[in-house]
Amino acid sequence: MTELKDLETKAVPNWCPGCGNFGIQNAIKKAIVNLNLEPHNVCIVTGIGCGSKITFWINTYGFNSIHGRSLPVASAVKLANPELTVIVVGGDGDGYGIGMGHFVHAMRRNIDITYIVDNNQIYGLTKGQTSPTSEKGTKTKSTPFGVIEKPVNPLSLALSADATYVSRGYAGELEHLTKLIENGINHKGFALIDTFQPCVTFNKVNTYEFFQKRVSKLEEDSSYDPTNKLKAFEKCNSDTDEYLPIGLFYKEDRKTYSEEETGLEKGPIVKHDISNIDITPLMEKFM
Ligand code: SF4
Repeated sequence: MTELKDLETKAVPNWCPGCGNFGIQNAIKKAIVNLNLEPHNVCIVTGIGCGSKITFWINTYGFNSIHGRSLPVASAVKLANPELTVIVVGGDGDGYGIGMGHFVHAMRRNIDITYIVDNNQIYGLTKGQTSPTSEKGTKTKSTPFGVIEKPVNPLSLALSADATYVSRGYAGELEHLTKLIENGINHKGFALIDTFQPCVTFNKVNTYEFFQKRVSKLEEDSSYDPTNKLKAFEKCNSDTDEYLPIGLFYKEDRKTYSEEETGLEKGPIVKHDISNIDITPLMEKFM
């Protein structure tokens, strides 16, 4: 049985005290324990940003990739060995800014990975610039007179790109977020868990108090049907100054990329028998 202590590393997170990333880290660890996943069968892939440092602080396999490129790396890991549980973690700047193209393609391909986005509506690691999810009017060092663009809506974007599991959590609701991650890992296909993550140092608007007053769990509304895509689009666009729904917005079952890829019919590439292939010429050419 996997226990929380099995996931500890010798290094200690250097996030600012109170950062929402601590809640997300705890939720990921709890989900791994609750699903009894063995650490060596889990690979956490990250990009660049405060939240992306998490690979150093959870004792699974990890790949700290480059800015905005975590999803292609994670896709490659999953295709090479579909038996691994692949979890991707990164910020809103990493995923919805520089990584936006990869975000859309991973969803339409339905790669079987779980993508947790630490959405703090700011660039934290580079000390407080506007991000793709900053609200219109937000004043930062890079926008002293206020943001003039509308923010990216990652949920309705995910629906448009045919993602098969679209959800939103909040770092201050640990049990709820843990369940979203567990269900995302169990889901066969691409699972998005956009997560409100208070950045206590650079975002003084979207604080714990701010979210505590506004978040509302979809699971508490028995009339909401997460298999109805049209209703999901409505719900994904229903944020107001007073209401921010969290939970599962949409889910559907569709074949994953690995299931469609004929090259994987004989099982994971890492387990293919290559003993009858002479790789000497290849080695001589490249070594
Ligand atoms: Fe967390 Fe913000 Fe500090 Fe980064 S800058 S560690 S996101 S509180």
